[in-house]
Amino acid sequence: MRMILFSSRQYDVDTFNEANTAFKYELHFQESHLDADTAVLADGYDVVCPFVNDTVDAATLERLHAGGTRLIALRSAGFNHVDLAAARRLGMPVVRVPAYSPHAVAEHAAGLVLALNRKLPRAFARTREGDFSLNGLLGFDLHGKTVGVIGTGIIGRCFARVMAGFGMRVLAHDPGPESPEVLALGGRYVPLDTLLAESDVVSLHCPLLPSTHHLIDSRALAKMKRGAMLINTGRGGLVESNALVGALKSGQLGHLGLDVYEEEGGIFFEDHSNLPLQDDVLARLLMFPNVIVTAHQAFFTREAMTEIAQTTLGNVKAWREGTPRNVVEAPAKG
Ligand code: NAD
Repeated sequence: MRMILFSSRQYDVDTFNEANTAFKYELHFQESHLDADTAVLADGYDVVCPFVNDTVDAATLERLHAGGTRLIALRSAGFNHVDLAAARRLGMPVVRVPAYSPHAVAEHAAGLVLALNRKLPRAFARTREGDFSLNGLLGFDLHGKTVGVIGTGIIGRCFARVMAGFGMRVLAHDPGPESPEVLALGGRYVPLDTLLAESDVVSLHCPLLPSTHHLIDSRALAKMKRGAMLINTGRGGLVESNALVGALKSGQLGHLGLDVYEEEGGIFFEDHSNLPLQDDVLARLLMFPNVIVTAHQAFFTREAMTEIAQTTLGNVKAWREGTPRNVVEAPAKG
């Protein structure tokens, strides 16, 4: 069984090689991003393993199929970067890692809340320079404030539990069934506009779908409590990036924590420190003192990486044995 992992870095090599001692597949680690031009590198590989910013569109899938690839094994939970209709047409199943460590992402989101509220990066930079003053570092008690959780799946529920631990009141919005766990925390399901209007902290934990694209746009930002905090560890496309700058400049948005960014492809996961940043919106966002951007690292814990590697290789094994699991359902038509 030959498998090629695109966009792989040393940490992928380490965790996949360790997990592979139980499977003994032939793994090939490729640093390149996957797209229609680089798909040729997968010729002769039965299984292709893309990462979140790879381009798995129809042209890429067709080229992979022509080269002999028969399975797309995503090493992520999100699958918005895959043309599922094209994969279905080509008869190539797409499998994913539906849950690895919800704690990793929920804890990172909580970390962004704390770092923004208590201005920890600024405080750290100051004390390192011998500046022990407190001007500009005033925060607020999370206790007694309201957190709005958009999407109460595996990660959103975990995040709600963490924030309830700080004594926050939980509001939730999800078109799916209400979670008994969220209700048990004292959480209340409300329409999106109510959540936006009443929350001091709004955190996004829903998938990127056509229906959630730009869920937070200028209209939604205007409905938020003035000075509230927005956290996005979901997917960049959930937020209309262009609308953020104006909301931050006017003070309507008080704090912003992004682990994902709409145009992160080609930027995140790479070292661009010697180059001028080409994305003007991202460059502007990075200038605000009340903004923290992390480069899609919320999933990045030892436990999550181990689980991702084991589940991905287990998915390949199940497919080989004719009992595929964790298959992403393709749309009925198209
Ligand atoms: P999940 O499928 O368990 O939960 C998603 C929830 O969102 C579901 O309950 C669903 O009903 C809800 N939802 C769908 N449409 C909605 C809408 N319009 N408004 C509100 N809620 C809506 O998924 P999960 O494992 O909790 O992950 C959530 C998302 O987090 C993933 O889709 C992925 O994009 C993102 N993620 C990010 C990282 C990272 O490193 N930053 C890591 C893993 C996952």
